Amino acid sequence: MANKTKADWLALAKKIKIDGRAFINGRSTDALSGETRPNFSPGDGRELGPVAYCGTEDAEGAIKIARETFESGVWSEMAPSDRKMIMVRWAELIEKHQDELAILECLDVGKPIDNTLNIDVSAAIRTIRWSGEAIDKVYDEIPPTPANSLALVQRLPLGVVAAIVPWNFPLSTTAWKLAPALATGNSVILKPATNTPLTAIRIAQLGNEAGLPDGVLHVLPGSGASLGKYLSTHMDIDGLTFTGSTPVGQLLMQYSGQSNLKRTFLELGGKSPNIVFADANLESAAAMAAVAVFYNGGQTCTAGTRLIVEEKVRDKFIDMVIANAKGWMPNDPLDPATTMGPMIDKAQFNTVAEYVDIGKKEGAELVFGGKRCLEKSGGYYHEPTIFAGVNNQMRIAQEEIFGPVLSVLTFKDAAEAVAIANDSIYGLAGAVWSRNINTAHKVAKAVRVGTMGINNYFGGDMTVPFGGFKQSGNGRDKSMHAFNDYTELKTTWIEFE
Ligand code: NAP
Ligand code: MG
Repeated sequence: MANKTKADWLALAKKIKIDGRAFINGRSTDALSGETRPNFSPGDGRELGPVAYCGTEDAEGAIKIARETFESGVWSEMAPSDRKMIMVRWAELIEKHQDELAILECLDVGKPIDNTLNIDVSAAIRTIRWSGEAIDKVYDEIPPTPANSLALVQRLPLGVVAAIVPWNFPLSTTAWKLAPALATGNSVILKPATNTPLTAIRIAQLGNEAGLPDGVLHVLPGSGASLGKYLSTHMDIDGLTFTGSTPVGQLLMQYSGQSNLKRTFLELGGKSPNIVFADANLESAAAMAAVAVFYNGGQTCTAGTRLIVEEKVRDKFIDMVIANAKGWMPNDPLDPATTMGPMIDKAQFNTVAEYVDIGKKEGAELVFGGKRCLEKSGGYYHEPTIFAGVNNQMRIAQEEIFGPVLSVLTFKDAAEAVAIANDSIYGLAGAVWSRNINTAHKVAKAVRVGTMGINNYFGGDMTVPFGGFKQSGNGRDKSMHAFNDYTELKTTWIEFE
């Protein structure tokens, strides 16, 4: 419950059972080789226990079972209303285990417990329930053909889908993939990120308990470069759905082209613009500018990392954002008062530290943070960090840092704000703040991103699609549009005698 204290969460965390086994054909199992890898908790660096390290032989077995299960029709041809009931039960079971899942995600990812409970776990519940509830309300089409004919346009499942997800939102991205893929009748093999396999494993177990037939859903922890590549190049995988970095997304498109042209949908990186006009509600804009970049330690694909402020309020607004940044000093993820946790690991911390150096060398002005903190904890914590005096050619304005580092730029008029916002290889998200409805709408329309907020950041829910323009990806998670990524359109044309 939301009102648990740090002591309550610590006590629960001590009791929690951590299961790092794969989930194949309805059972928890070790890798065939018996190999495991240690899994570390970013909060304090301690080992959480071994995780199965699945290889190609495990994948081969799971793909074969997933194919047989798909062909059997036990799930793919189950009445949508029955699939719905199983998915709704699954969501209820996740809700029943919400504290356990919140702790697993907190320990595995280092995310604050308040976030894992109220954002990640609740997103998983909502996503699975929503997709399940929707699936028996989707009608196919009868197009307007000549009178002596009748055409049916139906959506059919792809078959066997591989899902590969990242470490920054392991549970919610897992749910965003599994819910529409399973609702539409596919069999799925999910490869979680090596760093963060625990909640995916646990919700697969709960899915089975809810009535998902054996063989429909498999979770195989293992390496991206070997197991992930094996799945992506496999000739018997029909669809590939991915959330992760743009370079790996580029590889996956190639793997698809080199193998069987499996349908490949990617949700990738971002360098999202957050545009603030002088006539905005500056109090809210400043508070949300901090949320936009420091939430999840900036390890967020949609993070508002480029704050683009109208020049005439620049100094005042930077002071207001700095005042808000003070509320984002990192702390123990199991403390419900904590707003920001550690970086996922040492490598990610080093990347952030490197970009702080790059920013200084490029001539940007470090106005807040910039250092490691809480060294004694055993985790890699980084202060919320703000650079002013940034121009859009600097690397800290163009490259995804994936840490709590804000670059502040300025503009003189709306056209310049839009030009800066669009001068990026990415196009995932953004926001504009203004009390002028004309300015806000025109700017929101002109910025080439998949999701744009007006006077909010991170707005949206399960009813709206989520995904990127440009090198932020293709395809869409969430909403009915997600069903498109997991189905083929089939036309049947009938002629009457
Ligand atoms: P990543 O390095 O691309 O890894 C993502 C997943 O791909 C992991 O499971 C990884 O396995 C696997 N992988 C790595 N190399 C592979 C290969 N050659 N073939 C197949 N799979 C491979 O990304 P990350 O560092 O985990 O996550 C951060 C990135 O995700 C950021 O760029 C962020 O912007 C993006 N992201 C995007 C969204 C969105 O919806 N647009 C949401 C969240 C995050 P290993 O763990 O074993 O390396
Ligand atoms: Mg971990």
